[in-house]
Amino acid sequence: MAWTAHTIIQNGKAIPFEEARIHPLAVGLAYGAAVFEGIRAYMNPATGRLSVFRLEEHLVRLDQGMKFMRFDNPPSRDALRQGVLDSVRANAPDDDCYIRLQVHIESMGNQSTTGMVGWVCAAIPRERSPKRESGLSLGVSSWTRIADNTMPARIKATANYHAGRIATLQSKADGYDAPILLTRDGKVSESAGACLFMVRDGVVITPARDSDILESVTRDTVLALAAELGLPTAERRTDRSELYVADEVFLCGTGQELVPAAMVDRLPVGDGKPGPITMQLQAAYESVVRGTTDAHAQWRTAV
Ligand code: PMP
Repeated sequence: MAWTAHTIIQNGKAIPFEEARIHPLAVGLAYGAAVFEGIRAYMNPATGRLSVFRLEEHLVRLDQGMKFMRFDNPPSRDALRQGVLDSVRANAPDDDCYIRLQVHIESMGNQSTTGMVGWVCAAIPRERSPKRESGLSLGVSSWTRIADNTMPARIKATANYHAGRIATLQSKADGYDAPILLTRDGKVSESAGACLFMVRDGVVITPARDSDILESVTRDTVLALAAELGLPTAERRTDRSELYVADEVFLCGTGQELVPAAMVDRLPVGDGKPGPITMQLQAAYESVVRGTTDAHAQWRTAV
């Protein structure tokens, strides 16, 4: 990770990274009226070329968020796609990068102000999880996941991360790497910045879309890769107690990538070592994001 970001795209213009500005009273900050995407671009080791992973799916989800937030004159998908590519090209990273694309209310106003809308796109270095091989220690949080009829988790709003943040801070204070959040009716939802999978009797299981999860691009990728590997999959309501009897548990997300869990609530997952199906999926994920396989070429947008 030798490179540093020197250029950011703000409202379509490339400017020095340090010069991006938004007023402290902008509604995007004052009332959390912002939606965003976390995206990764990966370097192919053979070609030395970067490609953005599942860019279109991220742009579609951002559009859904902007619609839900009733933003006035939101930026077009074409402008945002161009912004993503420009943010990477302008910094000429010599390694993988993480891209934050954010659309916010730039005007001052009150909590129902819907414009003027502004956006930024930043390509920055981001370390991979240090627990990719050894596995995470997860703890079920006493904070519950935000519910669809209060703050819908399927909208990737920055304000949602207040709930994820307090659960994460509590879980770190309690000695865990990350929390597992339950829905209000006690079913497994997801972690604070990643979706959750478990493996039971060879079936790759993840909480259903009505479990107050973010409809994760990585979750969708993992389900597709598992099916291609011939592994049965299930999207269904998932009990908390299944976490303790599962053979394998892992988290996935663009930022986290695919990381095994070694412990849940200080009980070992399986024998406490990353499981074979998790590691098989992690390897399949690595090759599809990096393009060391020809499969799913449409998921990779060349920079
Ligand atoms: N859940 C939450 C709460 C997240 O913040 C993220 C990261 N964006 C995910 C799941 C994973 O989503 P994705 O695979 O689309 O990055």
